[in-house]
Amino acid sequence: MDEIFYSYGRYLRETFGGKTYKVVVSSRLTCPTRDGAIAKDGCAFCDLRGSSSYFGKQGRGDAIREQLDRRLPEIQRRFKATRFLAYFQSYTNTYADVGYLRQIYEEALSHPLISGLCIGTRPDCLPEECLELLEELAEKTHVSLELGVQSFENPTLEWLTRGHDGECSIRALERLSRRSPHVHVCAHLIFGSPTDSATVARDAALLLNEARVKGAKLHQLMVLEHTELAERYRTRPFSTPSLEEYSERVLEFLEHLSPTIYLERLHANASHPDECLAPAWSREHWEPHNRIREILLSRGCRQGSRLPQP
Ligand code: SF4
Repeated sequence: MDEIFYSYGRYLRETFGGKTYKVVVSSRLTCPTRDGAIAKDGCAFCDLRGSSSYFGKQGRGDAIREQLDRRLPEIQRRFKATRFLAYFQSYTNTYADVGYLRQIYEEALSHPLISGLCIGTRPDCLPEECLELLEELAEKTHVSLELGVQSFENPTLEWLTRGHDGECSIRALERLSRRSPHVHVCAHLIFGSPTDSATVARDAALLLNEARVKGAKLHQLMVLEHTELAERYRTRPFSTPSLEEYSERVLEFLEHLSPTIYLERLHANASHPDECLAPAWSREHWEPHNRIREILLSRGCRQGSRLPQP
């Protein structure tokens, strides 16, 4: 796929010079959409059980060092990676006072095998002192921030019950680029909501170009058990994208995305296929990947090809 777009693998090789792997750790934090600050049931699509950093009751209480010590040997053996990033993946990993954040980030960085941090969060959970901390760490080591933008379009953000609007993400991206310039920002997006406009993918790519993010990660809309979307889907089914429709979004996005921005993922797989209600193709692993690739190749897709050429 490297010939079509700037892959995450190439970005990691260029950044670290060796095989690099993200090791998931739990911060023991929650989200404003889960603790009642904004809502109690989480964002409409979010099934935290499907995430590899969801430990349930067991394991969440462990210190960061213990989590890393427990997971690293197996990962080293299986993936033959030489470098590792501590990946604070699930929940909102900047949703705490800055003293606690410093403690968990520094604890991860103190592990001899850890070369940097990867921190997942929401655009409305980045206060000034957090941006300062991130920048302080990023001046010394690798820090990437996985920002759950999901959509820049307000009808979709409301439909996904995100609890913030598109302007909030634009402001967060602008503040990150100004206050935390050494932090590598990777924006997460979901395409395929019935509320998406016809130009959602192109518009999102153009906004990410302007924000000078380092990367993007794409997901299709999935209806998973134990989510609000699943309840809605059962009472009043809505359309979800076919693989071909989703591939069109990916194509549109890629062709408008600056070639300097890496793509971490083109689509997601349901980690518990039996708990994915729709679209059915999300239950497959390789078939969607191969089909999207086929479509991109057959259409002569090249990242950034529809941007004004220098
Ligand atoms: S999508 Fe993110 S912010 Fe929303 S409930 Fe899930 S982990 Fe929390």
